[in-house]
Amino acid sequence: MRRSTSIILAAASCAVVAGGAFFMPQSSARPAVRSAPATVSAAREMGVPIIVYHVVRPSYPSDDAAVRAIAVTPETFDAEMRYLRDTGYHVIRFSDLESALRGGTALPSNPVVLSFDDGWHDQFVYALPILEKYHYPATFFVFTNSIGRPGFLSWSDLHALIAAGMTIGSHSRSHPFLTRIPDQATLWQEIHGSKLLLESDLGVPVNEFAYPFGAYDSRIIGMVEAAGYRSARGDYFTGGQTPAKLYALSAMNAKTALRPFVQKLRGISALALPLSCRPAR
Ligand SMILES: [Zn+2]
Repeated sequence: MRRSTSIILAAASCAVVAGGAFFMPQSSARPAVRSAPATVSAAREMGVPIIVYHVVRPSYPSDDAAVRAIAVTPETFDAEMRYLRDTGYHVIRFSDLESALRGGTALPSNPVVLSFDDGWHDQFVYALPILEKYHYPATFFVFTNSIGRPGFLSWSDLHALIAAGMTIGSHSRSHPFLTRIPDQATLWQEIHGSKLLLESDLGVPVNEFAYPFGAYDSRIIGMVEAAGYRSARGDYFTGGQTPAKLYALSAMNAKTALRPFVQKLRGISALALPLSCRPAR
């Protein structure tokens, strides 16, 4: 019974991938990605994109190439969120992904996680209203030494984000390359100290960690786990999510235009499909 159901669902998603519009939706009414499989099994690789945004704000003439490479305009960000809505994606939280990886709980079809790094105040000004417009939750990874500094989120901003349904994650205290810190006590302060500081002021658990610069090794992972985090976001895309990678979840850098965003997103989501159904990349 279960088997025949999954075969039917797999066949349905194959048909959609083969015949559907690949990049842009032809109209807002026609999904480019069908929400076919109702659940994703924890027993296999999960194609769950975790998108990492840094800068969301209008572009300025003074922006250099490095900024332009990561800066997403509010218009593009809105278009990306609209694409998720119009094509059957479901924005989930890290905690949903954690539960699926730990206990095999079901995820909605076409799940995707949204995250914002480094605590830039622009995220609050430009991204939050758009997230609220689409009713999408996101996790904001902040490093605690930056909180309240010019250009960065303040403590009251963090409280407002939580009130708006967002989640705060830790991105360490000073945003160092953790792998280059030999001293265990310093490392513990960066990893555990940031968690304690956030939790004591915000009054909510801080369960997710994102490694600064995506740099980690087995020693760092062990400490993140010992500090009580439930999961950690690792470096850039290294394959689908699996239970073994709970503390090194794969992520994708946000794209500054819709077309590469869709292309990357669909490539990762396809990992949830049987191999025979995955689009060529
Ligand atoms: Zn960072």
